[in-house]
Amino acid sequence: SFANEIVRDHRICVCVRKRPINKKEKKAKTVDVLTLPSRDTMTVHEPKLKVDLTKYLENHNFHFDYTFDENVDNSTVYKFTAQPIIRTIFDGGFATCFAYGQTGSGKTHTMGGDFSGKDQNFSAGIYAMVARDVFDLLKSQQYSHLDLKVGCSFFEIYGGKVFDLLAKRAKRRVLEDGKSVVNVVDLKETPVLSVNSVLNAIKDGSAVRTSGQTSANAHSSRSHAVFQIILRNSRGKLHGKFSLIDLAGNERGADTSSANRATRLEGAEINKSLLALKECIRAMSMNAMHIPFRASKLTQVLRDSFIGEKARTCMIATCAPGQNSVECTLNTLRYADRVKEL
Ligand code: ADP
Ligand code: MG
Repeated sequence: SFANEIVRDHRICVCVRKRPINKKEKKAKTVDVLTLPSRDTMTVHEPKLKVDLTKYLENHNFHFDYTFDENVDNSTVYKFTAQPIIRTIFDGGFATCFAYGQTGSGKTHTMGGDFSGKDQNFSAGIYAMVARDVFDLLKSQQYSHLDLKVGCSFFEIYGGKVFDLLAKRAKRRVLEDGKSVVNVVDLKETPVLSVNSVLNAIKDGSAVRTSGQTSANAHSSRSHAVFQIILRNSRGKLHGKFSLIDLAGNERGADTSSANRATRLEGAEINKSLLALKECIRAMSMNAMHIPFRASKLTQVLRDSFIGEKARTCMIATCAPGQNSVECTLNTLRYADRVKEL
C-alpha cells in the first residue's frame, strides 16, 4: 500500500470532498450545485434572483490542495490526506486529521467509516486505514528496531467537556501543568496488537457515541469525536500520536438565535471551538510563537498538534451537493480557505 506513496513536506494540507446526492434528495429533485472543474478547484453555483425575479447563478471558485468529487472513495481520500503524514508519528511527531462540515455531509463516513451497510459489512474509513498502515510500518525494516507499542484512545468533547468513549462515556478532567503539558486525566488507552483490535475499539466507541440518540436530536452531530493512535517506546514513553477528529457539525451558527437556551449555548460552544481551531491552525502555518490553544477544550486537548517542527495537519472539508445546503457549503469552503497554509 506504500508503493505509490505520496510524500508531502508542507505542514498543512486542506482538501474538500463532495458526497453523492442521496435517495431522498433524488426523490425531492434536489439540484446539485457543486462542480469540480479541475483537481484542485471546487465551484459552487449559487442560485440567485435578480430584482425583476429572474433567476441566475452566481459562481464561486475555491482552490485547495485537492478536491474530491462524489465518485472518489475513502481509500483515495486517505491516500492524499492522512497517509502522507503517517510517518510523522514514527519520527516522533504529531499527525492530525480533521473532518469539517455540516451534519450529513460525510464526516463520519470519511473518518469512522460505515457500520450500517447491508450484512453489517464495515466499509473502512480513515481511522481504520491509519491503523492498518501503522501496523505495516511498525513491522517494516525502517521502524521495527524502535520496538514501539501501539495504543488507542477515543473520546468526545460535548459542551466543553470530555467523555471517554472507551469507558462508557465516563467524564474526564483536562489538566495543564506548569509547562503547558495538557493531560486528559485517566483517559483510557487500550493497548492494541493488531488492526482487528483497533477496529473493535472503533466499533465499540462509535456505538457508545451514538447510543440512545434519536435522529432528530442527534447528540453526535453536536460533539467532536477524537480518535487517537498512540506510539510508545518499550519504557512506555510517548513516541508519537495520530489524532483523527470527526468535528461537530458547523451549521450551529444559526442556533445562536434558537429559542431554546441549552441549544443556544451548545451552538455558541461549537462556534467557539471551531473558531479556536481555525486560529490555532493559522498560527501554526505562520510559525507564530503564541498558539491560542486555551481558547477551547478542543484546541487545548490537541495542543501538541499545533506545536513543533514535526507537527503535520490535514483537513478534509465535506460538502453536501444540494441546493438546499448552499449556504452551509459556502460557509464550509470559506472556513477551509482560511485554514490553508499562508
Ligand atoms: P456527517 O457525519 O457529516 O453528519 P455522515 O458521514 O453520517 O455525515 O453521512 C451522512 C450519510 O451520507 C450517511 O448515510 C453516509 O453513509 C452517506 N455518505 C456520506 N458521504 C458519502 C460518500 N462519499 N459516499 C457515499 N455515501 C456517503
Ligand atoms: Mg457524523
